[in-house]
Amino acid sequence: MHKDIHIVIIGGGLAGLTAAIHLALKGKKVTVIEKNNYPKHKVCGEYISNEVLPYLHTLGIYPKDHGVKRISNFLFSNHSGSSLEISLPLGGFGISRYAIDQLLFDRAKEVGVICIQDLVIDLKYENEIFKVKTRKSVLEATYVIGAYGKRSGVDVTLSRKFIKNTSPWLAVKAHYKADFPEDLVALHNFDGGYCGLSKVETGAVNVCYLADYKTFKKYKDLQSYQNEVLEKNKYLKDFFTTATPLFKKPLTISQIFFEDKTTIENHILMIGDSAGLIHPLCGNGMAMAIHSAKIASDCLLHHIYVGSSRRELELAYTAQWKSVFAKRMRNGAMIQKGLFNKRIAKLGVSILQRSPSLLKKVITSTHGTILSDEF
Ligand SMILES: Cc1cc2nc3c(=O)[nH]c(=O)nc-3n(C[C@H](O)[C@H](O)[C@H](O)COP(=O)(O)OP(=O)(O)OC[C@H]3O[C@@H](n4cnc5c(N)ncnc54)[C@H](O)[C@@H]3O)c2cc1C
Repeated sequence: MHKDIHIVIIGGGLAGLTAAIHLALKGKKVTVIEKNNYPKHKVCGEYISNEVLPYLHTLGIYPKDHGVKRISNFLFSNHSGSSLEISLPLGGFGISRYAIDQLLFDRAKEVGVICIQDLVIDLKYENEIFKVKTRKSVLEATYVIGAYGKRSGVDVTLSRKFIKNTSPWLAVKAHYKADFPEDLVALHNFDGGYCGLSKVETGAVNVCYLADYKTFKKYKDLQSYQNEVLEKNKYLKDFFTTATPLFKKPLTISQIFFEDKTTIENHILMIGDSAGLIHPLCGNGMAMAIHSAKIASDCLLHHIYVGSSRRELELAYTAQWKSVFAKRMRNGAMIQKGLFNKRIAKLGVSILQRSPSLLKKVITSTHGTILSDEF
């Protein structure tokens, strides 16, 4: 009976490919549908928390064999450039999305995942079977995992609540050649946003910032926004004055939603950003994408082996997702709110300068512990 099971995963980013590898290693027939080709640059801070490393190893993925930068220190500065630096509680590593997504894609193919390059445009669930429609075909599946990221046409098809709203956020990312410590991730606040900097496997510095559209739209282009807003922070001014851009032009995205989402929608198990996006300043979205893929895969495998009902599977996944991530998401939202208030950010730095261990607690409150390598 089990061999007839077919799991279709919509989206081949970190969450989708991780779940695909996990399930394929457990002998399941898995198809991933990804609209883009690999490798591809993506807007992201490109700092991954070490909490997922042991789990990635069990899947046969060894990022540290690919020149990643080991990151153990964190520097924070507020709008006026007042700063503090601490060692990170768990630390992490710097790797570009160009490299890590390709690494996972190669491993997925190696373990027998069927990878299709196509766009999912519709899906239906009837009589325990999903029909997933892409531009080129229709696939039947026993289970569908939604791993299509922050926002997609699939959300429109599913009439998800958040999709009707507009988001006030946009993000910009580019790589630079610059003198920057390999073991550091920096977060610099500016009026209406914050900017993360850290090195990736190529030796380039990844610069990624989140900005409030209301502030941004007053400027005629990215360059003037950078000069007139970001560079008011002295750390960012020093960086941009000496760094050489490595991209022809920065990548940009908009419509970034941080609102609550559902973990199940029309019987689809949502993972990664499709289930919820933590505020990027926490630097934990990728670890959460990978971790949620593990939780969904474990729940699905348990359900298949014990023969529980689909409803039991959905309840179990939702409960586990909430118990692992809900608090982290709330804490992230609170910190972001504080950071956008100049007075609180100023006061925050002066308190944290006197008690740096408090900053470690703040960071810990938005991260998990080392993820078990039980598999
Ligand atoms: C500005 C910013 C900075 C960030 N910095 C960090 C950081 O430093 N560290 C960190 O841990 N996290 C960071 N994050 C969060 C992190 O980028 C995400 O949490 C992570 O990418 C989620 O992975 P995912 O697999 O859920 O989604 P994605 O990586 O977005 O993958 C989704 C995939 O689905 C595909 N897709 C979408 N629709 C369809 C469709 N209809 N059919 C087929 N395919 C489809 C897309 O092409 C994409 O490849 C940041 C986020 C932002 C916005």
